[in-house]
Amino acid sequence: MKIIDFLKDYQMNTLINCIREQGPISRVELSRRLGIPQPTVTRMTEKLIQEQLVIENGLGNSSGGRRPVLLSINSTCFYSIGVAIGRSAVKMAITDLCGNMISYQTKETSNQESIIDIIDYIKDHIEKILVEEEIEPSKLLGIGVGIPGPINESSEGFITIPNFYDVRNVPLRRILQNAFSLPVILDVNANVAALAERWFGRGVRCNNFVYIMADAGIGSGIIINGELYRGGTGESGFIGHSTVDMFGEQCHCGNFGCLETFVSTTKVVMNVQKQLVMKGLKNSGENLTFDDIVHFLQIGSSITQNVVEEAGKFLGVGVANVISFFDPEMIIVGGRLVELGDLFIDSLRKVVQSHVIGYGGKSTPIIVSDFTDGVVLGAAALVIIEAFTYCMDNSKVYEN
Ligand SMILES: [Zn+2]
Repeated sequence: MKIIDFLKDYQMNTLINCIREQGPISRVELSRRLGIPQPTVTRMTEKLIQEQLVIENGLGNSSGGRRPVLLSINSTCFYSIGVAIGRSAVKMAITDLCGNMISYQTKETSNQESIIDIIDYIKDHIEKILVEEEIEPSKLLGIGVGIPGPINESSEGFITIPNFYDVRNVPLRRILQNAFSLPVILDVNANVAALAERWFGRGVRCNNFVYIMADAGIGSGIIINGELYRGGTGESGFIGHSTVDMFGEQCHCGNFGCLETFVSTTKVVMNVQKQLVMKGLKNSGENLTFDDIVHFLQIGSSITQNVVEEAGKFLGVGVANVISFFDPEMIIVGGRLVELGDLFIDSLRKVVQSHVIGYGGKSTPIIVSDFTDGVVLGAAALVIIEAFTYCMDNSKVYEN
């Protein structure tokens, strides 16, 4: 990524990331935290200010002398585009460097459409947004794309994704790069949402956590030592397809009794519908939506409450397994199922308390994501992370 070549210098990279994470921060404090002599910090920050990546942003508290000038990231110096291509919707956003969404668009899609039509739609929209928001294309770092996994990309760049716009042996990254003339980074949606938490959300100050995406499917993104763990073959985190009952219902993956055959937005809707029909409160022909379920909860439907509690228990089993495997510092739950509120999450927490053996694991904080669309934000973060990450291969010595 052309942009910030000089950030690939180790010392400069450490400095900018300290400003990003701890800012607003004074030069004296930067020098103290990083162990870099103050004159060097001053020269380096001048370069960052000159490149408009950092701005002077108010005055700090004095420790006797003059009040120090504070430095922050200039969030509007560059922008990133995040796109979430789901099976039933395409969502996209432009964010600044601090993850603030400048513009957000969503469109329902049919999984029967061609991926090329979807990409054309995204392209048209991005062009429109850039004009509307008066953002110069040269300020775009790239495009991050979150898609359902697994992404088994061949060395030639061909991928096949099950049940996804008929994507079979398609060089998706190349198609996107050609369409946008920008660098494109692809990743699995749960990984991407975990990165959004790590960079902008509840996981900013936490180095080891697991993000659970509880939605139409169940996925997870694992952050270890501050970084996303992708596994040996890039297929980590598919907890939705961990087996809960090997004699259970068949999952769309072909196996039987996967976690997501017990809990998902679809399953909750289906279970409420089934109960209402059984009790003669509804005709079998009327199809409910997930929004209906959220509404039923708000008006105190006991049938819905029971289904939601049960769903929480099943996800609790999955989360308890994750805690037993990884002993993370915390679990962050996101996705549409968290719209089911405290009833759902408390039911999940109870199962974790009773199923995790270790005393520490039982008290693992289980918190709810603040983001309504972590995948889009995380997709934008993919690009920002790439820009802000020190890469040994590209290292250059920063000249004082
Ligand atoms: Zn499965």
